[in-house]
Amino acid sequence: MRKITAVAALLITLPFFGQTKADSLLFSRIADEMLTHGKAYEDLRDLTKNIGHRLSGSEAYEKSVIWAQKKLLEAGADKIWLQKVKVPVWVRGEETLQVKTDNGKWRKIRFLSLGNSEGTGGKDLVGEIIVVKSKAEFDQLTPAQVKDKIVLFNYAFNQKFISTGQAYGDAGVYRRSAASWVAEKGGKAAIIRSLTSAFDDVPHTGLMRYDNPLKKIPAAAIGAKTADEIENLVKNHKITVKLNSNCTMKGEKDSFSVFGELTGKKDKSVIVVGGHLDSWDVGEGASDDGAGIVQSIEVLRTFKNLGIANNHTIRVVCFANEENGVRGGNTYAKVAEDINEKHLFAIESDGGGFTPRGIALEMEESKRAMIRSWAPLFEPYGVHNFSLQYSGTDVEPMHAKMNVPTAELVPDSQRYFDIHHTEEDTFEKVNRRELLLGAVTMAQIIYMIDKNW
Ligand SMILES: [Zn+2]
Repeated sequence: MRKITAVAALLITLPFFGQTKADSLLFSRIADEMLTHGKAYEDLRDLTKNIGHRLSGSEAYEKSVIWAQKKLLEAGADKIWLQKVKVPVWVRGEETLQVKTDNGKWRKIRFLSLGNSEGTGGKDLVGEIIVVKSKAEFDQLTPAQVKDKIVLFNYAFNQKFISTGQAYGDAGVYRRSAASWVAEKGGKAAIIRSLTSAFDDVPHTGLMRYDNPLKKIPAAAIGAKTADEIENLVKNHKITVKLNSNCTMKGEKDSFSVFGELTGKKDKSVIVVGGHLDSWDVGEGASDDGAGIVQSIEVLRTFKNLGIANNHTIRVVCFANEENGVRGGNTYAKVAEDINEKHLFAIESDGGGFTPRGIALEMEESKRAMIRSWAPLFEPYGVHNFSLQYSGTDVEPMHAKMNVPTAELVPDSQRYFDIHHTEEDTFEKVNRRELLLGAVTMAQIIYMIDKNW
């Protein structure tokens, strides 16, 4: 019995090991090349220090469109072009938030208006603040209790989730919807505790939206410390806050996603590797998502430098407008569907340039099983998690519309939400080797898919 099992196991694994030797050699050639000659880290320095943050619709974003074309050319792309994308133009402008302390003096507190929020038109908006811990607690309040108030939602990240992405998903509804809830009950403004795993006082911006276009009240985020402080203060005092902000939506404009590709040697079916070129309008957009952009370009450069003959077209996509609209991702999927362009696979890196741990897979089970059977090849690189079932925000529309197998690089998540959408998202927070290892993982999975699908 024991013997039969061993033989059966050998028969099952033989075909795998048959291809494994060559594949594992190629895997290490990719890693050697990137870790010794990779340009992703210097590319990221260039993007973050010479352009900086680049909200879509801004002048900086247009500079990054030119930058990405130049980098793709240097990396050796056969073909580089732009896809027109209509993007919203949201501007922040000057903004202040103050709290009136016991001695009657106004004290400025750190905050950021949430992205796509309307401001106060430069006028002071003054009101008493009330604090709730959760949506359930807010639902207990009557409209009379909320009317003319400024509501603070002090809902913290759930520290028990090991994946901070899960905590982000859990708390995300407050950022998206708090202003709509408060407006519905007649409140003046909504403030949220920032979506962060840290216990510092750094405010995090990010996308919000209005359910009712006729009730657009300001939405803002404060750091965790200040949120806790205000929650304590209101227990014994009536606390007044004063918001003055100029953020507003200024219509739409034409912008671009940037593509660069290595044409397929056998056929023209497409494998996409990408990130989003836009960022929020604070910090440098280094981890979110300069990292994904420079890693994707690194993949192309490495295929070219190692002379790996790709059967199918490998297309780097630098998506426009992930942060405040996903117009780039949606336009890409729509055009691909319209022209019936065959896509084999699409992967995005948008979880920061941290040590890769796995690849999330959104696809039918047979394809997922095939990728899982390659796990031993990834093991030496510390990449082992192939069980998550989702994909990057910009590639997911391809899955939804055309059933393209889509994926997202899964880096270690512990530090990402300390800096996500903040002034702290800078080049200095990115480690060269971790960033490059993420690019190694993406090149390796693309190599396997290009060869086997
Ligand atoms: Zn992102």
